[in-house]
Amino acid sequence: MDVTVFGIGYVGLVQAAVLAEVGHEVVCVDINAERVESLKKGIIPIYEPGLTPLVQRNYEAGRLQFTTDAEFGVKHGKIQFIAVGTPPDEDGSADLQYVLAVAKTIATYMETPKVVVDKSTVPVGTADKVAECIAAILKARGVSLDFDVVSNPEFLKEGAAVADCQRPDRIVIGTDSAVAENKMRELYAPFNRNHEKLIVMDVRSAELTKYAANCMLATKISFMNEMANLAEKLGADIEKVRLGIGSDPRIGYHFIYPGCGYGGSCFPKDVQALVRTAEKVGYTPELLRSVEAVNGRQKEKLFNHLQSYFNGDLAGKRIALWGLSFKPNTDDMRDASSRVLMENLWAAGAIVQAYDPEAMNETQRIYGTRSDLNLMGTKESALNGADALAVCTEWNAFKAPDFDLIKETLNHAVIFDGRNLYDPAILEAQGIAYYGIGRGRSY
Ligand code: NAD
Repeated sequence: MDVTVFGIGYVGLVQAAVLAEVGHEVVCVDINAERVESLKKGIIPIYEPGLTPLVQRNYEAGRLQFTTDAEFGVKHGKIQFIAVGTPPDEDGSADLQYVLAVAKTIATYMETPKVVVDKSTVPVGTADKVAECIAAILKARGVSLDFDVVSNPEFLKEGAAVADCQRPDRIVIGTDSAVAENKMRELYAPFNRNHEKLIVMDVRSAELTKYAANCMLATKISFMNEMANLAEKLGADIEKVRLGIGSDPRIGYHFIYPGCGYGGSCFPKDVQALVRTAEKVGYTPELLRSVEAVNGRQKEKLFNHLQSYFNGDLAGKRIALWGLSFKPNTDDMRDASSRVLMENLWAAGAIVQAYDPEAMNETQRIYGTRSDLNLMGTKESALNGADALAVCTEWNAFKAPDFDLIKETLNHAVIFDGRNLYDPAILEAQGIAYYGIGRGRSY
């Protein structure tokens, strides 16, 4: 099928490449000319495992094209995906300006019927807005063309995006139109072979499904962080508690890891956006507000531990920081916990010596060159001359470090572990002080 994807970010690029791989003819349109030019040269602007060869292979085969020419894009695809960003605006609501800009573009250039698909995470009611926008422009152009607006939220996880798109758990399709449903079934048929994954529903329910999914996951994290904070006060170890509750199949082991807060481009903004949506319809979202508040507090946790350890005097201290991305296997730093820690450390006069396997360029892009940030080539070199080690991201490379080296190299043998990667008892035996999340037993 001929498909057009507007927005070549984490969602658009991965989805486009995966659709091209199964034989669809995909044109990707982005307003970022630099991004489009690099993709044409085979340079992939984001880090996602498996993405580079997938994009290169399909580009070379001619099934995947990159352009800034929106008119060409609109004329190409029977199906038009909108996969642009929906960042928070000043009050935390989802900012729909990019989504509506694409809707206008589609309406301006379309000459045949189209199925317009909202892939971006958008508040309930957005498909109606997109449809109104397209209808108004078609009317102004004096043309009458059929079109449907479908909600097809994306559930991929950064760091496993290619695998998630190739083997989705479910494909949610929100539409009341049989024509649109059939087109979507045809598009996704290659991904729907071994068992039925398509869940078809009305548009508004599909739009809410995406927010409900992310808010549920964020709630699980904040719940565990609340338990971790209690464990700390009560002299219990949250890691033991985690095992104890996860063994109940009604709870399960997934997504119940305590830590120094959730980040990324989705959970923080989607929880916030659903809070605003609820408020706009006169509902008080008590639980969601708390999820957000607990997370905000959790992101301060490592800094608070560091401050107490150094008796409130962090001026001139060098802190080795392992992990900058908001989670492993991505270079995405949006709302990452590491940023809160670094910014707090800088405000307290400390110097950060950071290492991350993939997010060093992104850190440089965000913070530029500053005398209190040293980006180091290896995790070991980040320890040189440092007073303490803090860990913000659970990259595999950090899971079994050389503790002897850490102890020898740091000025103070102390680790602040924001992801509970290490066993406090083992570190104690090695003579390394340990501060994790919710490890309340005194080691
Ligand atoms: P992103 O910021 O990585 O990419 C968005 C792209 O859209 C950018 O390249 C930007 O230049 C482009 N763009 C903006 N306006 C445009 C226009 N008018 N025409 C063409 N291109 C335009 O964003 P993302 O992380 O891919 O997220 C996209 C949407 O998908 C968001 O709504 C997000 O909430 C949702 N989502 C993201 C993830 C994720 O893990 N990143 C997962 C599921 C859903």
